[in-house]
Amino acid sequence: MIPKLVAPQWMSDALCAQVDTETFFPEQGESNRVAKRICRRCDVQAECLAYAVKHRMPYGVWGGKSARERLRRSA
Ligand code: SF4
Repeated sequence: MIPKLVAPQWMSDALCAQVDTETFFPEQGESNRVAKRICRRCDVQAECLAYAVKHRMPYGVWGGKSARERLRRSA
């Protein structure tokens, strides 16, 4: 049996759920400034960043930080 995935409660308040997901996963060389600007206004930024660091999310902007910035934070 495949386990059911349950999204954390904070995700229901995610501001990024209201915009195009691709904004948060820019191609290499593209700016992530728009995503970071949205994150700064998001009520769950701290929870999102903690989640991404804990789960070592390898791509995209989470909690206002790029994957590279999150790696530095967890080192
Ligand atoms: S902090 Fe950014 S990536 Fe995280 S839930 Fe909010 S808008 Fe989405």
